[in-house]
Amino acid sequence: MKSLRTIALKEAQTRVSPEVKAPSAKISEFFGSNVFDKKKMKDFLSKEVYEKLISAIEQGELINSDDANQIATAMKHWAMSKGATHYTHWFQPLTGSTAEKHDSFFEPSGDGAIEKFAGSALVQQEPDASSFPNGGIRNTFEARGYTAWDPSSPAFIMESKAGKTLCIPTVFVAYTGEALDYKAPLLKALNALDKAAVDVCQYFDKGINKVTASLGIEQEYFLVDLALYNARPDLMLTGRTLFGHMSAKGQQLDDHYFGSIPERVFTFMVDFENEALKLGIPLKTRHNEVAPLQFECAPIYEEINLAIDHNQLLMDVMEKVARRHHFKVLLHEKPYAGINGSGKHNNWSLITNTGKNLLAPGKTPKNNLMFLAFFVNTIKAVHEHADLLRASIASVSNDHRLGANEAPPAIISIFLGEQLNEVLDEIEHSRISKKIKEDNALWLGIPKIPQILLDNTDRNRTSPFAFTGNKFELRAVGSSANSSAPMTVLNTIMADQLIKFKAEVDKLIKKGEKKDIALLTIIKKYIKESKDIRFEGNGYSQEWEDEATKRGLANIKTTPVAIDAYVSDKSLDLFEKNNIFSKRELHARHEILLESYYKKLQIEARVIGEVANTMIIPAVIDYQNTLLDNLKSLKEVGLSKEVMATPLAIVNKISEHLGVMKASVDSMLEERKVANGVEDHREKAISYDEKVKSQFETIRYHADKLEQIVDDNVWPLPKFRELLFLK
Ligand code: ADP
Ligand code: MG
Repeated sequence: MKSLRTIALKEAQTRVSPEVKAPSAKISEFFGSNVFDKKKMKDFLSKEVYEKLISAIEQGELINSDDANQIATAMKHWAMSKGATHYTHWFQPLTGSTAEKHDSFFEPSGDGAIEKFAGSALVQQEPDASSFPNGGIRNTFEARGYTAWDPSSPAFIMESKAGKTLCIPTVFVAYTGEALDYKAPLLKALNALDKAAVDVCQYFDKGINKVTASLGIEQEYFLVDLALYNARPDLMLTGRTLFGHMSAKGQQLDDHYFGSIPERVFTFMVDFENEALKLGIPLKTRHNEVAPLQFECAPIYEEINLAIDHNQLLMDVMEKVARRHHFKVLLHEKPYAGINGSGKHNNWSLITNTGKNLLAPGKTPKNNLMFLAFFVNTIKAVHEHADLLRASIASVSNDHRLGANEAPPAIISIFLGEQLNEVLDEIEHSRISKKIKEDNALWLGIPKIPQILLDNTDRNRTSPFAFTGNKFELRAVGSSANSSAPMTVLNTIMADQLIKFKAEVDKLIKKGEKKDIALLTIIKKYIKESKDIRFEGNGYSQEWEDEATKRGLANIKTTPVAIDAYVSDKSLDLFEKNNIFSKRELHARHEILLESYYKKLQIEARVIGEVANTMIIPAVIDYQNTLLDNLKSLKEVGLSKEVMATPLAIVNKISEHLGVMKASVDSMLEERKVANGVEDHREKAISYDEKVKSQFETIRYHADKLEQIVDDNVWPLPKFRELLFLK
């Protein structure tokens, strides 16, 4: 029988890409064609309802049921004019992917049948969703969960060959009101941030009445041929290779980064980009990443809720389109040991209703005071809650990436760039307020921020949280993550921080201090207090780990411990006070994270056992038998001991590795049984991490050594060189 690897290799080498036509129109002509956007709302709604919907979107006002009926009818008309037959509430449960449950517009009626979509079906649904993760919030006997329409994210049509579906973005909550998804808390955090930021903006500009957070998500991913992927149980079931020796050539020549995109990949990219553009995802950039067959795409930034919906949708579309091209998209943070992993850089800034980016240094010192207020408050917020930000990016897969060679470490620090660092140092060390009073030259104390900064920021790729000219970039987010988790945290801690800032400034003003001096005094205080989190050097270096320890910064490398921060008294208080999560919700989330952590390791452990026992060991024994036969024949013809020494040495080497590998597999499986018996979820997760996962390395080490010895013709798993270089 031919091995799956052999068949897969043959398939992978004879691929023909499906025909992808270059778009016949300008992108602007088909961009958003599958989205019920403002223009279509205007066309399909009465002027009155249109205006109400816009204020629901922009001001969060409620929509009454009459208007909801009109909107639903309009949506249905539009969707049916595009060929949609079904609709679904589209939501983001805590599984990490998106969820849909399709209903047909079609409804039998007394004398035939009609297509119907009521306002009530638009606004709210009650999916029978008892098996979504809920961390104990919902008992199965009260399994009701509600999805509720989020008008701030427009409905869209998901196309597939067999049909089209109208998708309505929604939040997902338990019938007791607790959030069961990623979107609900994010919306709450954005609300809190809006309010807190507007209050602070009032010091500078009374015309500002809304602040939204913006997000641009750079998405890294790998591609691999589908047949090769299917021949690797580890990739198929866990998204990463649990075995595999590094290929002789990896990324050491740096010849992939920004290189020319292979034709087959390019065809795939154009295809998925067209689909994404039709869905209103403003994709702008595509390029090769550092590792072989690793790529990145990035849209133009958008309001954060929409940006995250679009990223979730993008991941989905990529996967679907990839199938047409016989590719598999690997979104795992570390699919291949020994080369770069993938992240999802979250570029974040704050924008006012007047169009001002609060994180962009201004031209005049007065503007700079406003910039400094938001800039320094961000630093202070991250300093205060670094542990929470760390927790928000924790996952079993991101554990492999953080702190590995190419990714930000598990230590949260902030990179500002030389110039802004100097500016902050200058403020910290000058006696500003006094000088301002004496000179009566109010602005003298604020250093000028050179304009070149905007276009000319330093790039420090080793920092998990870097300022890049007019935005912060959180680089520690994993490639497969839903960005809502870190963004809920970031916007909450920022809101909380701005509230504290305002209270402190107001207190000084009340005491008779001039407003600007009060602002600067508190800014200066924060610069001092949050100094430890700032780091400009190489975040990948051992020196930084040592330095961070000295500074008392946390460096928590594994998820089960990192996520303790979600349920610390400080966090429970923070989230409850700002109305983002109740204690119950936080404990539930914590529980879900722990469960997902050990369950994923459980799957990996099973796959390792199975692949080792049923694929690798038999292949190795086969080859060993061949060598033994060879030895026998050599002996029969009476060759000398010296001649037999070489095959004998190979047999010995094989036996050595085989022995240790098999023993480690057995011991790992034993530890797994022990871990499975642990009741407490946190302890179970830690047990899986320390006792089970810790053995993966040994098993892999010996399996990879065997891969280097055994006849290539009998090796069952596609090798790294095939996975990474066949394109
Ligand atoms: P890179 O970091 O690779 O140099 P860019 O800086 O051009 O790339 O942008 C990366 C992402 O940051 C893009 O999605 C871009 O739209 C987004 N971005 C740019 N400006 C902002 C901003 N003010 N707020 C949020 N995201 C932004
Ligand atoms: Mg970037």
